[in-house]
Amino acid sequence: MPDTIAVLPGDGIGAEVTAAALRVLQTVRPDCEFVHGDVGAVALEREGTAYPALTQALCERSSAILFGAVGHPKYDAAPAGKRPEFAILALRKQFDLFANLRFVRMFAGLEDASSLKPDYVRGLDLVVVRETTSGLYFGQPKHTTVENGVEVAVDTLVYRTPEIERIARVAFELARARRNHVTSIDKQNVLETGRLWRRTVSAMHAADYPDVELDHLLVDNAAMQLVREPKRFDVMLTENTFGDILSDQAGMLTGSIGNLPSATLGTREHGARRFGLYEPISGSAPDIAGRGIANPVAAMLSAALLCRYSLADDASAARIEGAVAHAFASGARTRDLASAGAPLSTDAFAERVLAAL
Ligand code: NAD
Repeated sequence: MPDTIAVLPGDGIGAEVTAAALRVLQTVRPDCEFVHGDVGAVALEREGTAYPALTQALCERSSAILFGAVGHPKYDAAPAGKRPEFAILALRKQFDLFANLRFVRMFAGLEDASSLKPDYVRGLDLVVVRETTSGLYFGQPKHTTVENGVEVAVDTLVYRTPEIERIARVAFELARARRNHVTSIDKQNVLETGRLWRRTVSAMHAADYPDVELDHLLVDNAAMQLVREPKRFDVMLTENTFGDILSDQAGMLTGSIGNLPSATLGTREHGARRFGLYEPISGSAPDIAGRGIANPVAAMLSAALLCRYSLADDASAARIEGAVAHAFASGARTRDLASAGAPLSTDAFAERVLAAL
């Protein structure tokens, strides 16, 4: 039986970069069956829901999901369940996708595009491991009320020990396959959840991962260190909200958010193959959508991660990563990265990667 890959391009540049990534993925894995599904604003328009039943069923029978982005300004004022972004939360829930891995890698030749001086980012290679099914985004109560004529909004930050343990395990395991160093990030000086986070990570380190180097940073310090000395980091382990913010910040170190892929893994696994959702960390970028100028690298590198984690195919992952590196080294740049010369369109950049493959 060939592996089925659910392809959910979604909205805006999501559709453009996913099309480019799919060409690359089909080249290295022609044996897979690629099936498209509607998601996001496109699905809302066609079927009245951001995550239709047909797409749910497709994902259910797939080995992995290649995802673009969801979001459209038309729905900015819509209630939560009627927004394109609802699809992401529904997918995370359906597959318990709790571990979001965001890889931040500086490709040779792009140093000048970074917002930091080249020496600070040359050779940069870190990963943010972000918890994605709990914390502030999901904790209850969550509501806005009126008290004494004043609007009051409440979000609740909750973490339970098993939720911290399972994401910490992902970080420690990942570190063992890299430079063996985890930096755990919390806000233990003011938050109860931060204290539980630090205690739990430390206990797990002592019990199961004493061989891995572990240090702890407060999130404000981590944000500072990320721009002061980013190469000190290998694996950054953190909770939902902090991870969301720190990984966008880390992304800019590589020159563009359009370079950053992610894998979100859940609890479903068969041997070395884990079910996962693979997507650029950026959104649908309505400001540049429809112009064919988006950087497709994050989507291509997400496809590489799909090969590595869901197909247990490191060779194909390395082929894609090598081809992207080759395209950059030969001077190929989309508009977000171009400082000199004519930038390439999304499709022209894809041609360069395909040629390198
Ligand atoms: P965004 O990430 O879409 O865009 C931020 C900036 O980065 C924009 O200037 C955009 O042009 C640029 N950019 C992003 N990706 C790029 C690429 N590949 N190439 C070149 N430039 C790129 O963030 P936003 O504008 O805050 O959000 C737009 C919509 O996307 C919103 O509706 C938001 O809710 C949604 N969103 C979705 C996801 C997701 O689908 N996972 C993630 C974040 C935001």
